[in-house]
Amino acid sequence: MLTTILYRSHICDNVSVKSLEEMVATANQRNGDADVTGILLFNGTHFFQLLEGPDESVSTIYQHICGDRRHYNLVELMRDYAPARRFGKAGMELFDLREHDKDDVLQTVLDKGTTKYQLFYDDRALQFFRTFVEATEKENYFEIPSADSWEFIVDDSLLPPAKVVPADSAACSFAFQPIIDPLAREVVALEALLRTPDGLPPQAWFEGLAGDEIYKADLNSKKIAFAMARDLGLRDRTLSVNLLPMTLVHIPGAVGLLLQEIEANGLVAEQIIVEFTEREVISRLDAFTDAVRQLKAAGIRVAIEHFGEGFAGLSLLAQFQPDKIKINRDLIRDMHKSGPRQAIIQAIIRCCTSLEITVTAVGVEKAEEWMWLESAGIYQFQGHLFASPCQAGIPAIRWPEKKIPFI
Ligand code: C2E
Ligand code: MN
Repeated sequence: MLTTILYRSHICDNVSVKSLEEMVATANQRNGDADVTGILLFNGTHFFQLLEGPDESVSTIYQHICGDRRHYNLVELMRDYAPARRFGKAGMELFDLREHDKDDVLQTVLDKGTTKYQLFYDDRALQFFRTFVEATEKENYFEIPSADSWEFIVDDSLLPPAKVVPADSAACSFAFQPIIDPLAREVVALEALLRTPDGLPPQAWFEGLAGDEIYKADLNSKKIAFAMARDLGLRDRTLSVNLLPMTLVHIPGAVGLLLQEIEANGLVAEQIIVEFTEREVISRLDAFTDAVRQLKAAGIRVAIEHFGEGFAGLSLLAQFQPDKIKINRDLIRDMHKSGPRQAIIQAIIRCCTSLEITVTAVGVEKAEEWMWLESAGIYQFQGHLFASPCQAGIPAIRWPEKKIPFI
C-alpha cells in the first residue's frame, strides 16, 4: 500500500546549509533504492518533509530520519494512504523556500507534483504544505530543549516518618501519588490509588467482586483512603480519590456517606477532589449530574479523568463542567513527536481555558512530554517522571532543575 508520512523538524544550530546538499544526495540514493520518493522543504529553521512509498520502506526510512542528529523536535504530522505518489520524481529533493518569491512559492512547490490529476485542493497533505509554506501554524511549533538540559533533584521532605499500615481487616489498601506544579515547586494534591492488600492495581481488586458489589466496595474503600491519608499526615493538603461514576447513582446516600467519613477522619470537604473516570459509560447522566451537584454543594471538587478516551468526550462538557480535567498516558505517550496528539491536547486545553477548568496531565514519563505540555499551558503533572505511586506511603518527589551550561 502506498504510504505517506509528513513530518516537521528543527535544524540543529551546528548544521550548515551547505552540508544539507550532501545530506540530500545520500538520502536521494538511499530512498531511491527503497522505492521511496518525496520532497524536503526548508525555511532556514524548519524542515518539512513528505515521504511516499511502500509501507515498510517508508516506516524504516522515517525511523532512520528520527535518529538523525542534524535535526530535533521532530513531529509526525500525518501518516496516510494514497492511490498515487504526489511527488514521484526524486528519492529526495530539497526545496529551499527562501530562494523563491513569497507569492508563488506554494505554486512552485506544487508544480513539482507528479500526480496524473492536479493535486487536489482538499488533499490533507496539500493543506499541510500550505500551512507550512504560509507559516500559519507557527505559534504551535514549540521549541523544547533536549531532555538532558534538566536534572531532577530528589526531595523526600514530604515523607512521613513511617509507612502507615491499614487495619488487618481492611479489604484494600491505597498507594499515594503527588500531583505537582514542577516549576512552582508546589504539591497541588495527593491522589489515593486503590490497591489490593498486597499491592496489586485497582483492576485486580475489582476483578474479585461480582456485579453491583463493585459500587458498594468502591464507596466503602474511601473510608480506608481517608483514614490512611490522615495517618500519613495529609493535614490541609488536597486529596484526590477516585470513584466510578455509577457508584454515586447506584448507592443511595453515597454523598452523605462520603461526607461522614471525611469528617470522621478530621478532614474537610473543601480539601477533597473526587475523580470520575470517563471510561465507564454514564448511562444515567441526569442521576449522575444530580449527585455531582450534591458533592459541589457540600464543597467537594470534581474531576473527570481519562478525558477524551471514554464515551462522552467533549460533549460531556455541554452537560456539566467539572473543576478539573485529567488527560492520561494514552494521550500523553510520546505526544511531543505526534501532530495528532498535540492537536487533540491543544483542543482540550483551549476548551478548558474558556471554561476555567484546570487541566492535569497524568502518566508523564519523559522530560520532553512534560516540557511540551508546559509550553502548551498545562501546569499540573502526575507521573513517574516526578514521583511514582507509593503503597501506603508518600513517595519522594523529583523536582526538575535547569542545568547551567558550561561556558
Ligand atoms: P488514574 O486515576 O488516572 O490514576 C493514575 C494511574 O496511572 C495509576 O494507575 C498510576 O499508577 C498510573 N500512573 C501514574 N503515573 C504514571 C506514569 O508516569 N506512567 C504510567 N504508565 N502510569 C502512571 P493505577 O493505580 O493502576 O490506577 C488505574 C486507574 O484505576 C486509575 O486511573 C483510576 O481510574 C482507577 N482507580 C484507582 N483507584 C480507584 C478507586 O479507588 N476507585 C475507582 N473506582 N477507581 C480507581
Ligand atoms: Mn484518578
